[in-house]
Amino acid sequence: MHSHHSHSGDYVAHGVDPLEDVVARAIERKFHTYCLTEHMPRINMKFLYPEEREDTAQQETAIQRLQENFLNFLRHAKTIQDRPNASNTKFIVGIEIEGCDIEHISYGKELISKHSDVIKFCVGSVHHIRDIPIDFDQQGWNQALMACNNNLQTLLLSYFNLQYKMLTVLKPLVVGHFDLYKLYLPPTLKVNLDTGDVSDEPTAISVSEVQLIHLWDSVHQAVIRNLQFIKSYGGLIEINTSALRKKQSEPYPGKDICQLAKVHCGDRFVLSDDAHAVTQVGVCYEQALKYITQTLQLTQMHYLELTTQGDLLIKTLPIEQFKSNEFWGSDRS
Ligand SMILES: [Zn+2]
Ligand SMILES: [Zn+2]
Repeated sequence: MHSHHSHSGDYVAHGVDPLEDVVARAIERKFHTYCLTEHMPRINMKFLYPEEREDTAQQETAIQRLQENFLNFLRHAKTIQDRPNASNTKFIVGIEIEGCDIEHISYGKELISKHSDVIKFCVGSVHHIRDIPIDFDQQGWNQALMACNNNLQTLLLSYFNLQYKMLTVLKPLVVGHFDLYKLYLPPTLKVNLDTGDVSDEPTAISVSEVQLIHLWDSVHQAVIRNLQFIKSYGGLIEINTSALRKKQSEPYPGKDICQLAKVHCGDRFVLSDDAHAVTQVGVCYEQALKYITQTLQLTQMHYLELTTQGDLLIKTLPIEQFKSNEFWGSDRS
């Protein structure tokens, strides 16, 4: 089995368990490929999370600490990648991009080229809309909506336009949690169908009753543009199960986007757990299997492989082989 995206408590404040424990669990579960992709350091204090800026007088130290953590992560992850293990699990060192804004997208590019001997690929992610984190808590998501003039169409467009900037500058091999904005989208939110304004009018529709990306042509076109661009440079889209462990009904991306991806990007999917803890290694993969084979009816999955020469290959797995993998039905404790 594979995961192309993971974290640990050693090198990011919101992680839980030590990297060695996460790695030991991936070996125990006999993963074929397990990618270690810690977040790149953020370089602007406005993007620090509360737990990172306990002492506001020491903000520059906090930025410095993120830098040091990341370098320590690279060193540690490289030793794991190079070290034999009992299950012959292949660990691959990557980086999760923080597409906060243009400054961070450019900085991500610099980092990757500076450490190209260690960083084999990047997971391209956007976690912010108008400088506000959208996957941290409900309050943040609400603030992001307010910053978009309380208009859902504007919020979605802001997200997909920033994602497009990130895609065009970085061409990430794996595109992370494509529709992250849905995590804190209140299912009871009602919007004006024409404008996207949040509304209580009787004609307003509830977002839980519609396929969001088909509501407004501007959003629909932005998604298609992004998918076509991913296809143009050979990128892959992760099916990320962290949405399922956070009690969403679907992984990232949801069915509506996956169907568009099949048309405009091809079956270019990989699987990721986005684990931050030992218990999250391979979490909700059975649900993902059902999603992949029954809901999306994909005919193939992809995964990354590192050659002994250190080159990264994209491998294709016909869906029958994916379904018959020994991982299914193995230890689920
Ligand atoms: Zn992420
Ligand atoms: Zn992540």
